[in-house]
Amino acid sequence: MLPYKSVEEAEAALGRGLTAAETIWFNYSANKSDFLLQSHNLLFLFLLSAIVPLYYTSLELLFGNSLVAYKIQPKVKLNLSHCFSSYKSTLRTFFLFVVPLFLGVSYPSSIQGKGSRSGLPLPSIWEIVAQLAVYFVVDDYLNYWIHRWLHCKWGYEKIHKVHHEYTAPNGFAALHDHWAEILLVGIPFSVGPALVPGHMITLWLWTGLRSIHGVAIHSGYNLPWNPLKYIIPFYCGPEYHDYHHYIGGQSQSNFGLVFTYCDYVYGTNKGYRYHKKLLHQEGLKSD
Ligand SMILES: [Zn+2]
Ligand SMILES: [Zn+2]
Repeated sequence: MLPYKSVEEAEAALGRGLTAAETIWFNYSANKSDFLLQSHNLLFLFLLSAIVPLYYTSLELLFGNSLVAYKIQPKVKLNLSHCFSSYKSTLRTFFLFVVPLFLGVSYPSSIQGKGSRSGLPLPSIWEIVAQLAVYFVVDDYLNYWIHRWLHCKWGYEKIHKVHHEYTAPNGFAALHDHWAEILLVGIPFSVGPALVPGHMITLWLWTGLRSIHGVAIHSGYNLPWNPLKYIIPFYCGPEYHDYHHYIGGQSQSNFGLVFTYCDYVYGTNKGYRYHKKLLHQEGLKSD
């Protein structure tokens, strides 16, 4: 909640006029508590976990034949019962674990006493981009090691096997996880904002972008209009993570979830490199 009763009061406190973005933010957030604003993260996660997979499913149902060149496992047909089952599991996970985790741990530790803020002035674009970059790098690095541990015999059999149920994943499978895995991946997601506290808008963007990315890498499609693969160094796209599911439980390759560099550095991309080499040779033969 903002400590100003009007735009004029906010401008007097800042010693300048509000920008258009700050005026919109003032009108939206002035009477909302920090708890309510922070709860928007749950809403974004809930909506994006349904809307973004629906986008990919609709693409396949409506334009499947035209997009077959971009389907990563073209021989595997869309299985709506798998999608529905994954979505049911996502909803169960969301209401039984994500919401209580947010209310019990994430909210109290992030907004209260950790430097996160929801007031004015708004952060600059560069501050937002820099903080999001830190969040993604921290999340990726910690997830790399958690994911590697989940592929040890005990971790896989007891926890991670649920996520690997489908060797050709769909967008709804991004959060198709054992409850213990949801708790584990909540840690890397929260460490970046705890280390470098950001504005509420940055936290919303973080939740939104990370959710969209999670769905995209499970979508089964390597679409040409995804600009991220061209502008983000070591970007882990759908093809990269799809290979991890394709190999299944035996997979000791492609543990990175946002970037590929950890797999390069620690030598866990050999299977994928060999697979790409074979695909390249097959492509040359068929030309
Ligand atoms: Zn895995
Ligand atoms: Zn996955």
